[in-house]
Amino acid sequence: MRAVDVILKKRRGEELTGEEIRWFIQGYVREEIPDYQVSAWLMAVCFQGMTSRETADLTEAMVESGDVVDLSPIPGVKVDKHSTGGVGDKTTLVLGPLVAACGIPVAKMSGRGLGHTGGTLDKLESVPGLTIGLERDRFLEQVRRIGIAVAGQTGRLVPADKKLYALRDVTGTVESLPLIASSIMSKKIAGGAGAIVLDVKVGSGAFMKTPEAAVALARAMVAIGQNVGRETVAVITNMDQPLGHAVGNTVEVLEAVETLSGRGPRDLTNLCLALGTQMVRLGKPGTAERDARRQVEQALTSGQALAKLHELLAAQGGDPAWLQGPAEASLAPVRLEVEPESEGCVQGCVQGIDAEAVGLAAMTLGAGRAAKSDPIDPGVGILVRAKVGDLVDASHPLATVIARNQQSAEQAAERIRRAYRIGPEAITAPQLLRALVTTDGLRDLTAS
Ligand code: URA
Repeated sequence: MRAVDVILKKRRGEELTGEEIRWFIQGYVREEIPDYQVSAWLMAVCFQGMTSRETADLTEAMVESGDVVDLSPIPGVKVDKHSTGGVGDKTTLVLGPLVAACGIPVAKMSGRGLGHTGGTLDKLESVPGLTIGLERDRFLEQVRRIGIAVAGQTGRLVPADKKLYALRDVTGTVESLPLIASSIMSKKIAGGAGAIVLDVKVGSGAFMKTPEAAVALARAMVAIGQNVGRETVAVITNMDQPLGHAVGNTVEVLEAVETLSGRGPRDLTNLCLALGTQMVRLGKPGTAERDARRQVEQALTSGQALAKLHELLAAQGGDPAWLQGPAEASLAPVRLEVEPESEGCVQGCVQGIDAEAVGLAAMTLGAGRAAKSDPIDPGVGILVRAKVGDLVDASHPLATVIARNQQSAEQAAERIRRAYRIGPEAITAPQLLRALVTTDGLRDLTAS
């Protein structure tokens, strides 16, 4: 086989065989096929696309490029959840304990944040003493004992994705449906997932900016799941504004605790209940959706999910008592209320919030990283007070900035002000849950 023939075949729009795809990916990982040929192939994929079968073969070839986590010592269906990334997305901190309290084993490998989105590991590490560096045996033992563990990725998972993603980034080939879908799904499968629930975000703060693009990505990933024997469902959710109120690290942990106490923001609570329902449905085959929903609601209202979060923190070296007062006291000292622009429209309704800009404001405060090696300041962040549809004026600020000093607070405040669109007309808040995509097709959730 010659790499140039594989490139030409894809350039002509023909369907590659599984053997050709595997040979090409293997050759790249072994450095037998150079970057320039893989770049040409990626561009051909961007223009010609891939069939579902090719996309599934590509996903499997990527999984085979590295280690695969063996979760078989843990009984039951291991359901993983993945979010395509959002601002203020502390879903894993709520959802993990929520479904673990329903008896679904949660063996979660999470990532760190980069750019405008935060990472679960960074948020968890704001709890003093907590470690995310769990050895394989301790990770498995903890899931067996308390039903949940959240750790950083270990081993050499999907090296093909690392290489391909870096190349896509510099060759203008990131935005290709089969490439995005295989990249995400290969990491979930290599992480040992038996079934997968996806939260595909759509909107200004999301990777996918239009509902059509989000649905197409969801369908592509559900099809991969079907082709490789991992039941997969996707919930399409709105990311036209930050999720919940808190954007940062300690502030997001505190909001997760509020949510598990039944006092969380409505959007975050509804999202976790919706995703949790799907996870319980997949984790307990044969469970009707209504029963699954009842189970997650019961775990939330009974306090069992909150107790599970405390167990998780304690098992990984954190002190749950820290959440009760020390966490609040550990926040950075400067508070700045962000008021709407003093000129022009001083009073009005929030028409839209550029979620990405809010995420970047939090990053510049120190809550996130511009580069992978940057340190994180867990005590800074933003509390989004006004959401889309809310009225704002001088006595109803847009947000509160929590900063180390006045200068960084004012810079963040300016970014936040620019992220808001305020106008005279009253509008209703956007619907968070948009659609559910399964192998049976698409169900519109905006009417429910
Ligand atoms: N996230 C991923 O993991 N991969 C992509 O290709 C895009 C977003």
